[in-house]
Amino acid sequence: MKDTPKKKRAIVVGSGIAGLASAIRLQFLGFEVDVFEQNSTYGGKIGVWSKNGYRFDTGPSLFTMPHFVEELLLLDAKHDINFKYEKLNVLCNYFWNDGTELTAYADQDKLEDEFETVLGEPKENIRKFLRKSKEKYEITNHVFLEKSLHRVSTYLNLRTLKSILQLHKVQIFKKMNTENRKVFVKNKTIQFFNRYATYNGSNPYQAPATLNVIPHYEFGFGAFFPKKGIRSIADSLFEKAQNLGVQFHFNVPVTAVKRKPSGFQINNEHSADVVVCNMDVAAASKGPFSELISTKRKSYEPSSSAVIFYWGIKKKFPELDVHNIFFSANYEEEFNTLFKDYDLADDLTVYVH
Ligand SMILES: Cc1cc2nc3c(=O)[nH]c(=O)nc-3n(C[C@H](O)[C@H](O)[C@H](O)COP(=O)(O)OP(=O)(O)OC[C@H]3O[C@@H](n4cnc5c(N)ncnc54)[C@H](O)[C@@H]3O)c2cc1C
Repeated sequence: MKDTPKKKRAIVVGSGIAGLASAIRLQFLGFEVDVFEQNSTYGGKIGVWSKNGYRFDTGPSLFTMPHFVEELLLLDAKHDINFKYEKLNVLCNYFWNDGTELTAYADQDKLEDEFETVLGEPKENIRKFLRKSKEKYEITNHVFLEKSLHRVSTYLNLRTLKSILQLHKVQIFKKMNTENRKVFVKNKTIQFFNRYATYNGSNPYQAPATLNVIPHYEFGFGAFFPKKGIRSIADSLFEKAQNLGVQFHFNVPVTAVKRKPSGFQINNEHSADVVVCNMDVAAASKGPFSELISTKRKSYEPSSSAVIFYWGIKKKFPELDVHNIFFSANYEEEFNTLFKDYDLADDLTVYVH
């Protein structure tokens, strides 16, 4: 009788959403997967906190591209996880302190009408901007979202080469605010679209106009909300990983990852053929992965963070929707104070979820 070949072992460091996704994919590919998580629970930034009968999702609040979650839940074609979400008709409500209120509808015709009626921004400008946002997505998506930038095969691919030829349309060397000023005539519209830089903690007055791709994720694919809250994304992926046989080890910080002739050794104790790092790259490169990650990454500057308050209020606010933005009057000054003085401006933009 033939011996069945021994399964390869993979270790995932961290059980944030990316760690959960990697664990699911590796286990599905036939690896024996162990996840080491320093905290007592999974989810990473997709956290949850309860107090006095109120429950707060502590990290992200906007759910885009749900098909990526669905793909993971259905990898093995078993409908064993009950994950439900709905599409939002209103993406976000915007408020300015001069009393202007704008509703960002998911429906593009309604959105264009709203911009023209409320702000006086010609519809064609919105249409043109969103068309270019989609174009940026189509040029960049398969390189940045679907391929590894560290593999030669990515660059020897015909689609990548086509994208490289169109790189000028992605506007890497132009500033987001400068380009938005050229497209729109109203300052409030510029502020509206500049805000998308904050989705990855950037400053629209310094960030490349490439980030004008971000609105396409919302306006092109839609914004969604899981019926049981954002935490249920992590709950569902955790359940799926367990169903597939992934082993989780909580309260186990990984302190050392070393390369060995036969693979990797973790915490001088566990061996693996493959290791996936789900930690922030800067922390990983200065910590447990210092031998494996190039020194260049050790000097990465973190993006801006956010100050968050969790308020339990027993009242309904009909003027508010799932996502609401209260804009500051001087957006540029707000960013200058934050990014140049490392301080908070007196007048701040506030997001209410
Ligand atoms: C306040 C806030 C709001 C956000 N809003 C949105 C939003 O609306 N929409 C959106 O799409 N995104 C949003 N984001 C971004 C999104 O939350 C993150 O991009 C995403 O959750 C990151 O997932 P990750 O798995 O890469 O990392 P993380 O969630 O950071 O997971 C990393 C995991 O690794 C673990 N770990 C770290 N070091 C070790 C170690 N040495 N040993 C073992 N385990 C370790 C950590 O404990 C953690 O569980 C927001 C982020 C924040 C903070």
